[in-house]
Amino acid sequence: MISVCMTSDFFLEEADPWRQEAWDIIRQRSDVIFYLLTKRPQRVSQCLPEDWGEGWDNVFFNVTCENQERADERIPLLLKLPFRHKGLNCAPLLGPIRIGSYLDSGEIEQVACGGENYGGTRFCDFSWVKALREECVRRDITFCFLETGTVFIKDGKKYIIRSKREQTRQALRSGMNYQGKRMVFDLKDSWGLPIPEGERYVPHFRQYCEECSMKMLCNGCSDCGKCAGPRKKASASGPDANEVKGDVQGIC
Ligand code: SF4
Repeated sequence: MISVCMTSDFFLEEADPWRQEAWDIIRQRSDVIFYLLTKRPQRVSQCLPEDWGEGWDNVFFNVTCENQERADERIPLLLKLPFRHKGLNCAPLLGPIRIGSYLDSGEIEQVACGGENYGGTRFCDFSWVKALREECVRRDITFCFLETGTVFIKDGKKYIIRSKREQTRQALRSGMNYQGKRMVFDLKDSWGLPIPEGERYVPHFRQYCEECSMKMLCNGCSDCGKCAGPRKKASASGPDANEVKGDVQGIC
């Protein structure tokens, strides 16, 4: 699986001139799953290739919804769009979200959520994560709590967790992840022949992956070294990247 354009948005207006080339690659590589995530589902129908039809089976399309307002704005659009595989990314999770009526459509195959990161200071409350999980479990939809985020509230107590590794570790320890009905992608080789499950790419993981909540959805370790560390040193002026305030052992 290749995550496309994760530090930007595949459906940005500025990307209109080159998106067709990206679609060409996606069409050509029917043996690869392409993960698309957008905050702009209202732009999608005008950006699809001419031969899109009802959608290509190697594309997994996701929208971001951080709170109820965004969920109510974007999920109805997601449900109307012609994609064979659809999911939600509720990250950063900034408030309680009720999405049961959307999940009842049967079209959403996966929900992921996580707290705010990258220097953000908006908190994520564990009770929101649990409520979201319940809605997914009831419908046998895969749910993954990716990370706590930097500011995490549990049982009314606030924790500051700057280390991303610690955030994923705590998320995993919370036991929130749920494997629902498995997604089935109809991948094909360059001859257009189906690729059986047993002949597909098998991701590999490192020891530290066993403590990472993202492993559930992760495509495996690419050996880039970013997840493994080394752990960053505290700078004299800025905050310590590994800083944890509050008793971490007691969080999840
Ligand atoms: S490679 Fe391992 S540590 Fe990194 S995100 Fe994936 S599962 Fe987590």
